[in-house]
Parts: sequence; C-alpha cells; structure tokens
Amino acid sequence: MPKLRLKRGREKGIKLGYLWVHHQDVERISPSAEDGSTVDVVDSKDRLLGRALLNRHSPIVGRIYSRHREEWSEALVSRRLERSLERRRKWGLDLECCRLVYGEGDLLPGLVADRYGPVVVLQIVHPAMERFRDHLVAFFRNLSGVEAVYEKSDLSARLQEELEPRSGVLWGRMPDELWIREGKVSLRVDVIGGQKTGFYLDQKRNRLRIGPLALGRRVLDLFCYSGGFGMQALGGGASFVTFVDSSKEAIALARENVEASGWSERASFVEANVFDLLRQLERQGEHYDMVVLDPPAFAPSRRALSSASRGYKELNLRALKLLGPGGILVSSSCSSHMPVGLHLQIISEAAADARRHILLLHQWGQDLDHPVVPSHPPSRYLKCHVMEVADIWD
Ligand code: SAH
Repeated sequence: MPKLRLKRGREKGIKLGYLWVHHQDVERISPSAEDGSTVDVVDSKDRLLGRALLNRHSPIVGRIYSRHREEWSEALVSRRLERSLERRRKWGLDLECCRLVYGEGDLLPGLVADRYGPVVVLQIVHPAMERFRDHLVAFFRNLSGVEAVYEKSDLSARLQEELEPRSGVLWGRMPDELWIREGKVSLRVDVIGGQKTGFYLDQKRNRLRIGPLALGRRVLDLFCYSGGFGMQALGGGASFVTFVDSSKEAIALARENVEASGWSERASFVEANVFDLLRQLERQGEHYDMVVLDPPAFAPSRRALSSASRGYKELNLRALKLLGPGGILVSSSCSSHMPVGLHLQIISEAAADARRHILLLHQWGQDLDHPVVPSHPPSRYLKCHVMEVADIWD
C-alpha cells in the first residue's frame, strides 16, 4: 500500500480524531499512489494513523476513512451506508425527508445524500467516491418509496477537487413537482433549479422550534430561500411574515409555499439585498417582534474570518435595532470557520452597539442528520442563537 507520510509533529490532530490531511502537513507521498485511490497515513516514525482517500489536486490531500488497514471497497461503502440509515432510524429521524449521508460525519468522505420523499439527491465530491457511483445508485434505488436518484454535484467543492460539475437523473423519473412536510407545514423542493440539493435540511429542527415562538408576532424572515422559517412562523400563528431574499427564484418559491397553504394575507415578499433593506427599514422606523437571520457562509476560509465577522456584526446590529423589548432574534451562521463562541460574541457586541440588553434563550446547531464529529471541527458548521431583547438602554 502506498504511503502518505506526515511532517514531524503534524500527527497530533489526526491522532485525536481529525479526519483531513492538509497539503502543508505532508512530508512525502509514494509516487506510485494514485489520486482517487487510497494511502496509508503514517507519522514521521512510520506508525500507521489511518487509511485515507487521496487527491493531490485538492487542498485536502487525504480524507481518512478508517483507522485500520481496511480496503476502500463496495462492501465497506455498503456497510457504512447501512449504518448511516440505521443511526438515523434509531435517533427517531424521518428517513423519508432527511440527509441520509453527511460525508465525514458518517465516515463516507466525499458523499452527501439527501432524501425528499420519492427523490434521493446525491452530491459526489471525491474521485474515490465517484468510482462507486453505480453502486450508490443501486443502494438508494432499493430504498422503499424511492422513484428517482438525481446527482447534483455542481458545487464549488468539486472544483476544489478538480472534478467537473455534474448533474442529472441517474435512475428513475423525477416527479413533476416535489412537496415535503416539515411538521405542519408543506414546502416545495426544487431539486433541479434550487440551491444546494434543493433545500436546507440542516435548519429543519430549528425551524420547527421557531414556530411556537412566533405566535402573534410580526416576523421578518431574512435570507429566506424557500421561506422555511417564515412558513413555520405562519404555521405557529405569526400575525404577519415578511420574506426577504436577493434571489428571484427563492422569492418565487417562498411565495408559492405561502400561497399553497392559503396564508397570503399574512405575508409579503421582498426581493432585495438584506444589507440595503435593513438600512432602509431602520430609516423608515419599522419594528418587528421577531427577526430571523440565516445568511450564506460569509467565511469560506479562515483568512476570510475577519471580514466575515464584520458582515455578521452589521447584520445583527441592524436586526436588533428593529426589535423592541420582548423581541426575538434568531441569528444563524453556517460558516464552519466561525466558532460558536465567536458568533455569540459578535451578537453580543452588536447588541452593545444597538444599545439592547439581550438574553440568550437557545444555542442550537445543525439537525441530527448532519452528525457532528467533535474531533473534526469542520463537521460542525451551523450555529443558531436565539436571543431575546430584555431592554433598550436609551
Ligand atoms: N433560511 C433558509 C436558507 C437560507 S440560505 C431556509 O431555512 O431554507 C441563504 C439565502 O440567502 C439564499 O437563499 C440566498 O439567495 C440568500 N442571499 C445571499 N446573499 C443575500 C443578500 N445579500 N441579501 C439577500 N439574500 C441573500
């Protein structure tokens, strides 16, 4: 087996359970090792740390999939797929509408599989996982109720691996329209034209928890995409929800969802850049009882963290200014480079500038179908802080 030898002193994280080997940690890779194949990861004294999928073209050169000398085979992938489903079943998740596989969180690097009723959407982002495309299709089409397997590997992570974007039906027939249930709420999922795999499952549990908190409130759902948070708020009895997104397609989806539930009288839709809109709302002296902030990842790398922090601060500051005593801020960040503590600190600094005294009601993360590996921090990316404004200082 070809080897990937780490530089001296760089084995510590991996020994503690970190699952990636970065370029700068590598001393040497056997010339015979092929990208898309496997290597034994060893420390400077040649001691085995694990076995990894190799791709020299990626900044993540090695992705550890086993601590032993286990072969990367169909049998191993099948076992891991079975286990991913099994743990979700045991955790009480709805397997009909769920992320069935979350890459490293399920020890299946390079694979994401989301199920929306009859459709399974795959994202394959590693050459070693690509080799098993047919096998993956065979596995997922066998699940009861699945009518189509769709590949949507058109994301930036694939470019990082120097793989061409790919999307299309791998098996079966896509339904003309796809609707899912989230608690009491129905939502349309646009797999082909929508963002990511068509929907943001990671916020599901948080959206469901927001519903009851919204009773009787005027809600501003910022970065709404298909309107998941606002829909739960309407389902929970919000008096009015304003949905905001800069994407025309997203606003159209949100509108469709609201109309299908017959809630149009309690909703309005704004296609706008949230940063501009917040300034405008402040000038107009608008007030809300709940503001939801769910921006895209502002910090795609550690280097971008300080400019991202400024972005988060501005959003939270302006959102808090629209809230009076008793108002609720639901503030998320999905940047894996932004630690939980720093996110909370930014909200707290924003509150000081907005002259709001705030209380932390809840500190939530991504839903259970995106399992977090504590020793592998990139697996934990979503933060959702729920704050209540207790007082205004002036
Ligand atoms: N809250 C959503 C997910 C939001 S994803 C849910 O629960 O499903 C982030 C959204 O922010 C995307 O829909 C994207 O179109 C939108 N977006 C990105 N930058 C924006 C900006 N500057 N102003 C408004 N919307 C923006």
